[in-house]
Amino acid sequence: MAGELILIIEDNEKNRRLERDILQFHGYRTAEAENGEDGVRLAQETPPALILMDIQLPRMSGIEALRILRADARTRAVPVIAVTASAMSQDRQKIMAAGFDGYHAKPIDVTQFVIAVREMLDRAPRRGSAS
Ligand code: MN
Repeated sequence: MAGELILIIEDNEKNRRLERDILQFHGYRTAEAENGEDGVRLAQETPPALILMDIQLPRMSGIEALRILRADARTRAVPVIAVTASAMSQDRQKIMAAGFDGYHAKPIDVTQFVIAVREMLDRAPRRGSAS
């Protein structure tokens, strides 16, 4: 659904800009954080409909950030997709075992990225819609 808020947690500026541009082009609202700590704080303050999170982040890894989000009633139900260059199958297994709802490999494929976002929002309970 257009207008839903999606939080991008990514330290690489090029990737962050690409994700933001794709999402805004498709009518979503976006928020951004450059490290795990800020990402967690933003998610707690304004729970988004979806979080797209890098794994290798400054200050707090994506794995640790996910653990905190899942332990917090405000963010527990927010779906989180890992967006990472760790494309080895064992890395992928580790990421899914950590409790991420989905996985998208970098470099970002625009078409697949949009499909993954739509599918996740379609099966998640509505959150973070226009207030
Ligand atoms: Mn990174």
